[in-house]
Amino acid sequence: MMELRKFYIDGRWVPAKGASEQVLVDASTEEKFGVVALGSDADTDAAVAAARRAFPSWSMVDVATRMHFVERMRAIHLERMDDMAKAISREMGAPIDLARQAQAGAGPRHMANYLAAMKDFDFIRPLGPHAPNDRIVLEPIGVAALITPWNWPISQITLKVAAALLAGCTVVLKPSEMAPLSAIIFAEIVDAAGLPPGVFNLVNGDGAGVGQRLSTHPDVDMVSFTGSTRAGVAITKAAADTLKRVGLELGGKGANLIFADADEMAVERGVRQCFVNSGQNCNAPSRMLVERSIYERSVEAAGNVARSIAVGPSSQPGGHIGPVVSARQFERIQGLIEQGASEGARLVAGGAGRPAGFNRGYFVQPTVFADVSNDMTIAREEIFGPVLSIIPFDSEEDAISIANDTPYGLTNYVQSGDDARRNRVARKLRSGMVEMNGNARGAGSPFGGVKASGRAREGGSWGIEEYLEVKSISGWG
Ligand code: NAD
Repeated sequence: MMELRKFYIDGRWVPAKGASEQVLVDASTEEKFGVVALGSDADTDAAVAAARRAFPSWSMVDVATRMHFVERMRAIHLERMDDMAKAISREMGAPIDLARQAQAGAGPRHMANYLAAMKDFDFIRPLGPHAPNDRIVLEPIGVAALITPWNWPISQITLKVAAALLAGCTVVLKPSEMAPLSAIIFAEIVDAAGLPPGVFNLVNGDGAGVGQRLSTHPDVDMVSFTGSTRAGVAITKAAADTLKRVGLELGGKGANLIFADADEMAVERGVRQCFVNSGQNCNAPSRMLVERSIYERSVEAAGNVARSIAVGPSSQPGGHIGPVVSARQFERIQGLIEQGASEGARLVAGGAGRPAGFNRGYFVQPTVFADVSNDMTIAREEIFGPVLSIIPFDSEEDAISIANDTPYGLTNYVQSGDDARRNRVARKLRSGMVEMNGNARGAGSPFGGVKASGRAREGGSWGIEEYLEVKSISGWG
């Protein structure tokens, strides 16, 4: 059994002061493999105090030195890729190949992208030729609390930590209590990179404990949060009394608009993208909107793709999908699959219950529903499992209106061979991101949403600006 009872505070590993703990369970086997201490108010306060003390000097460190530290972190992260991949696979159930390539690989990738953005980033900018003695100065906001989820654990951590450090903030990271292993390795990486004490601090804990304490703490200037819309609302309310800046990256219910002139791989691509990471992606294209003239054959094709997707344990190499993260998520997804059937959707592939051959582990069958109407529960709620809903549409306006009829607005997808239509539709979709014809967004493009998906932006210069205050100065000499 792993015993994780230390936090990284003020440049040292210190024992947790509180007594509560969380048991860690392997999602593939349902076996307990460890415990993690959950921080108390005293642990949180110690980390915030260390970050506060470190802020005046770190915020004055020159930008090249801050970049040098992040470059060192990136290099050490690359050396520890194997440890990182195994930790992620263990803690949240990603198959080991996915954990290696996509999950662990995201850490160094995000750091490289931020370092590239920093090359053209000016902290002191002219206002314009009309005001030659004005300067707009961007200054770090202060102590940033970073609260992250379990589904892409190291991706979320590096998106926040690297941006905050480059901006000149000091940080307290509270990773998900479901995914503490990768965060501990990350803290070891920061330690090995030699950052000054207090600049980066890690306290494990849950939302009600450390999360709440950080959100209300008078010495925390900002909370950057990625996770559920429910917790985003709770954090916003908790942060209101101290008027903190709150950055939110929340859930999604992305639509994938497939027009009759889409390329022939569009349906398959959409199904596979929906099921990546066992469907546990905020940007999953979980509603597939298909033009009526190609609807029946697309439904059939989607069912065939879903049936061809293998499900297997996290430790096994290969391109299969793994279990979902926990018993709680498993039960929730099962309930939603049953609800889809009872509300009248047509089950095309998968369904309730584990896949054939499994009698334990949180494995969910790759499931496709057709004839879904956009007011059904499976079309409205973020399922966070391998469940796709297919909805027919009759016209471009109809498709846009169905896509936008959701509380969320993270990523939408468009598949069409008509350039003018694609561009037109992309402009009308209410979301922070639109991906078209299978083109991934470029390195360093801003990730974030609108409406109930939150309004923060991570990645590139936008991600760094999240941690900066704007100061306007006149009479500059
Ligand atoms: P969650 O909201 O339950 O937990 C996320 C983090 O918030 C955890 O660290 C948790 O301990 C903490 N937390 C929970 N309640 C809190 C509270 N009241 N105060 C302070 N902290 C609190 O989410 P999860 O189940 O870990 O992750 C899944 C969710 O994350 C999904 O909804 C998914 O869409 C979302 N997500 C969004 C993005 C994005 O960038 N938009 C990326 C990944 C995941």
